[in-house]
Amino acid sequence: MKREKLKNAKRIVIKLGTNTILSSQGINFQKIDRLAYVCASLQQTGKEIIIVSSGAIGVGSLELKEEQYPQTIADQQATSSVGQTILMGHYARFFKYYGLNVGQVLLTRDVVDFPQSLENVRVAFDTLLAKGIVPIINENDAIAVDELNHLTKFGDNDTLSAVVAKIVSADLLVILSDVAGLYEENPQINPQAKLIDQVEEITDQISQMAAGKGSEFSTGGMATKLSAAKIILENQQGSMVITSGEDPSILFNILNGEKIGTLFTNKG
Ligand code: GLU
Repeated sequence: MKREKLKNAKRIVIKLGTNTILSSQGINFQKIDRLAYVCASLQQTGKEIIIVSSGAIGVGSLELKEEQYPQTIADQQATSSVGQTILMGHYARFFKYYGLNVGQVLLTRDVVDFPQSLENVRVAFDTLLAKGIVPIINENDAIAVDELNHLTKFGDNDTLSAVVAKIVSADLLVILSDVAGLYEENPQINPQAKLIDQVEEITDQISQMAAGKGSEFSTGGMATKLSAAKIILENQQGSMVITSGEDPSILFNILNGEKIGTLFTNKG
């Protein structure tokens, strides 16, 4: 039983999307608080936790009272640099309440493309984890820009989280999202659509189920989640679960082997 093996997952990457961090009222502090509690509890049982958090541009937009997602790259850069510090301040405060320190790591794509800098990133993660510090990662949106012949941007944090999972050889990546998993059809169009329990291969049929983009302040959508799943499955190690980020305690259920969300895992 594939779900059972999640009980043994030790190194876990948790990805939170912008829609999971923000509610219509602004930053969802209750959720960050709950996440901090869950991470502290998991760490006490010997798990190692790494967080990939979106929200820099969303939180920056709120702070600067922008009515829509910043349209130009320059505006996205500026907005993210405002939002990122606010976001990290909240993470640091809530995690500290449960006795945990957090460490910010901002990545650009070129960092992981060069073997020496990739090694440095790995050392940084390993050292943080060895000290019991929770790394909180985002793309360095203030400086990561796609230029011709020089791709420095991951573009979405689903992909980034899978790359991080690969770098740290994580046993499990959990994508906490505003959808409960991968559905056979778009559940917003057909509320009866069936949730897929387990995927071992990203076939054309699976890819077709994932067309479309996320909402106003987010970059992802199901398509980028499947790109993340591809990285995990190609890597031949570790698994990934997409599930609802409504209540971060769901991580306890996932790690208890329960049938939650959609599990992507290798055959065998
Ligand atoms: N790095 C972006 C941010 O923090 C999010 C990218 C994404 O939504 O995947 O706003």
